[in-house]
Amino acid sequence: MSKGKVYLVGAGPGRADLITVCGMKAIAKADCVVCDKLANPALLKYASADAEIIHVPKRIGKGSFGQDQINQIIVEKALAGKTVVRLKGGDPCIFGRGAEEAKVLVQAGIEFEIVPGITAAIAAAEYSGIMLTDRNYNSQIVFVTGRQAQDKKESSIDWDLLAKFRGTIVFYMGMGNIELIVSRLIDNGMDENTPTAIVSNATTADQRVLQTKLNQLVAESRKGEFAPPALIIVGQTASSDLSLNWFMNKAMFGRNIVVTRDRPGNADSAEKIAERGGNAIEFATIAIEPITEGNEFLRAMEKFNSFDWVVFTSVNGVRIFFDFLKTAGKDSRVFGPMKIAAIGKRTAWQLEKFGLKADFVPETFTSKDLGAGLVKFADVRAKEVLLLRSELANKDLEDILVASGANITKTSVYDIKPVRSDAQGLQEQIKAGGVDCITFASPSAVSSFFEQIDVELVKSHNVIIASVGPVTSAKLGEVGIDVEIQAAEHTMDGLLDATENYYTRG
Ligand code: SAH
Repeated sequence: MSKGKVYLVGAGPGRADLITVCGMKAIAKADCVVCDKLANPALLKYASADAEIIHVPKRIGKGSFGQDQINQIIVEKALAGKTVVRLKGGDPCIFGRGAEEAKVLVQAGIEFEIVPGITAAIAAAEYSGIMLTDRNYNSQIVFVTGRQAQDKKESSIDWDLLAKFRGTIVFYMGMGNIELIVSRLIDNGMDENTPTAIVSNATTADQRVLQTKLNQLVAESRKGEFAPPALIIVGQTASSDLSLNWFMNKAMFGRNIVVTRDRPGNADSAEKIAERGGNAIEFATIAIEPITEGNEFLRAMEKFNSFDWVVFTSVNGVRIFFDFLKTAGKDSRVFGPMKIAAIGKRTAWQLEKFGLKADFVPETFTSKDLGAGLVKFADVRAKEVLLLRSELANKDLEDILVASGANITKTSVYDIKPVRSDAQGLQEQIKAGGVDCITFASPSAVSSFFEQIDVELVKSHNVIIASVGPVTSAKLGEVGIDVEIQAAEHTMDGLLDATENYYTRG
């Protein structure tokens, strides 16, 4: 059997998409991913469904995986012919034991590649507006492991040199030895007033930053919550201006926003919320299930070429429709000369993926605007119109079309089923003040959510409610909930824009 290959991949500092393209490609082709505690587990979604995922050191309860055990796993898998990704936080070789793993691979005659990652020092500094080599302050950086501060005799850290260093010093793994680090620097002659900073959980919604002087660092660090992992930065650049802290100055930074769509929809929204600096809490309320048998959709499909217009009212509708076509051994040619309408630009984009350009897309995305716009755009009198509905397409659309003389056939391509999520967990979070905003993108999400979550609890905890549009807001009104934010554009992106604007206005 031929030997496999090992990629030592830097996962980046925390935020999943700070991994390199090269790292992502390696994960995608891996048969086995050996994942470090500090690597963001969200990256594992790029792995193929049948890839073996091994978490180290988390898996073994108390003890951790020893380095020898990890080396052994990697070697064994590679010798079995597998492509192995060893996924490590930050960069694999900056305090990451990449060197040890590489040497073991050389000894075993296994081919390997190292994929660099953004190391914590660089990310933590840049995500808090600290410019490590701002030329007004310094032109040297040093990365130090704070773990070796402990043993005076054996410490490999040159404190005398560090205390005199006229650049930026970044301590990794230093929080457990913070007192020692400060006293060694001061004892060796560093100015007590030297600016310092602590950055914890850099690049994530939980990022915290402390900026203070060296002689205040220990006392100040005890006041805040600086959960690991955290770095200590020492030097003039650590005193950077707060206005440079672009990440934590984002309007949504640190806000806990609940998303209540179906599971894949929530995952998509969670990524977008993270990009805006917020923290998404995923609470699935509905599941979208394709309708595959025994309904009016299949009957409509039998006489498909008798329609003049086909109207798509959601992205999901398009996706499921084409899944159906594929299973039936057909493709976009079934549309022939038919005209196509789409409720909005995302639905139209989805159609374009299948090579179809919608003839009509309204300016604003409601079923009413779709209906009103369509009857202006085309004469629908006595025309056969197929409405491939979603829940968003309420009666407005069909009423307008019928009033204009169209013969309509309406059918759903999917069912929306309510699902339950961890209601108790979310209620506890609301009680603890850990929820800032709840977003709703459909009336069915509203119903399912408030079947599980106490309305009064939400009302009494100062939670902001954001709705995708008037239909959803009306449903919220029915359950007795006031809507603070309503999206101008009735899409999930529009909803997130409106929420961000709300927090920007303060
Ligand atoms: N190979 C990693 C470092 C591993 S050592 C890298 O290149 O980043 C672990 C130390 O890295 C932690 O103790 C902490 O000091 C630092 N660290 C890792 N991720 C961090 C983060 N998101 N925020 C702050 N510090 C982090």
